[in-house]
Amino acid sequence: MIMKTPKFYNSEGRQLSTFEALEEGRVRLYTCGPTVYNHAHIGNLRTFLFEDILRRSLRFLGYEVHQVMNLTDVDDKTIVAAQDAGLELDEYTAPYIESFFEALDTLHMERAEEYPRATRHIPEMISMIERLEERGFAYEGEDGSVFFRIAEDEDYGRLSGFDLSQVRQGERVASDEYDKEDVRDFVLWKSAKEGEPSWDSPWGPGRPGWHIECSAMSQKYLGETFDIHCGGIDNLFPHHENEIAQSESATGKPFVRYWLHSEHLVVDGEKMSKSLGNFYTLPQLLEMGKDARAIRYLFLSVHYRQKLNFTFESLEASAAALRRADEMRFRLDHVGERGAPRPALAQAAATLVDRFGDALADDLNLSGALREVFVFVRFVNRAIEKGEVGKGDRQRMTDALNAVDDVLGVLDAAQWQDAEAEPTGPSDEEIDALVQARTQAREDRDFATADRLRDELIALGILVEDTPTGPRWRRKTD
Ligand code: AMP
Ligand code: ZN
Repeated sequence: MIMKTPKFYNSEGRQLSTFEALEEGRVRLYTCGPTVYNHAHIGNLRTFLFEDILRRSLRFLGYEVHQVMNLTDVDDKTIVAAQDAGLELDEYTAPYIESFFEALDTLHMERAEEYPRATRHIPEMISMIERLEERGFAYEGEDGSVFFRIAEDEDYGRLSGFDLSQVRQGERVASDEYDKEDVRDFVLWKSAKEGEPSWDSPWGPGRPGWHIECSAMSQKYLGETFDIHCGGIDNLFPHHENEIAQSESATGKPFVRYWLHSEHLVVDGEKMSKSLGNFYTLPQLLEMGKDARAIRYLFLSVHYRQKLNFTFESLEASAAALRRADEMRFRLDHVGERGAPRPALAQAAATLVDRFGDALADDLNLSGALREVFVFVRFVNRAIEKGEVGKGDRQRMTDALNAVDDVLGVLDAAQWQDAEAEPTGPSDEEIDALVQARTQAREDRDFATADRLRDELIALGILVEDTPTGPRWRRKTD
């Protein structure tokens, strides 16, 4: 294991900062989860994948990670959608919770340690609101809704730079929250309207506001102060600003040390929307024959603080990059080892792991990390072609690839094969690559390598025939 101290861009303070865990070697991480009123779209999945990469990177850098991701299974959207469908809330959200986990599995995202559901943590939310009331940060409106009193919170706006003075104090606006003292106040508890799902509370039947859900559940599982809180950039304001206000006003302690936000995914340069016809879920892409592994690769290859422009060309480029890595791995798996281990290979493996770690520690510089992988791929290809793979080198190279793949999760094609599919032999592209390498070796008059590659092809059941127009190959049929 390597230990490196990462730097992350902290949205609070807007600068790169050296990460210091509250507890040595351990990271407590909260990630805002899906609102389960419909299927996650690929934008949501981009954010969840960034969080998966963050979690795996922290582990690569030597930390133990405890991640919590909430499921928002009660809010305005879920309630309206369940009512429209004529279903109970739990009944309505169940298939979307299931499809969310399926999407995680399809993209080989690791499971968080905890997935608390909002509807299962109402008592924790009520007690936090009570605490805010006791401390003068919350008040009850006429209809039994409860609001956060922003005027009491001196550093409200710390995260987003939201300037409270721009909003006229005490202004009242016509809205269904007509009994707020101040237009800037936000809701902690909403009194139940006719026909809505509700829970008993000191303020009568109602349900929690969205922001209090995350404050209460993060505190329950990670403590009053924890290390990292993530979400998509749209979560920064007002959601995360309000979480800070609630949590710190309730406990009097700092809430979160590092805020990391990922930029949005757009499609063909435009915001994804159903009306533009550029709105995709993962099952839709799979249905179109797109490869889940290439989708994972594309998502992770773009820096999390840059917009990810999803196009079918970029997906194709990702598939091509993976093919290059696959071909090398395939050749490595089949190459014969000759003679003593080569120090240059051991060195290349160590350099890969080290530089890959440096890139991750640099605010998750995945393009830098991938560059190191492909430097390694070319290096190993050359060593194979030159017949410079000695005893134990194959395993050493494979170990280095597996180490970086613990973060990337895309380099081992076998792990992505459909469990029910027949085991497949080498693909046509892989065989083409071997045949081409053999031709190259012959042109270079490197006959030892050419012969070795021929032996490799024979071992794979491939017959190569040299014709005046170049080599042709076919699979041996038994
Ligand atoms: P929601 O299900 O709407 O609560 O969103 C779940 C997560 O997806 C949140 O962290 C959002 O910030 C994030 N998100 C929403 N839209 C996008 C998008 N187009 N690209 C990336 N992340 C998004
Ligand atoms: Zn949240």
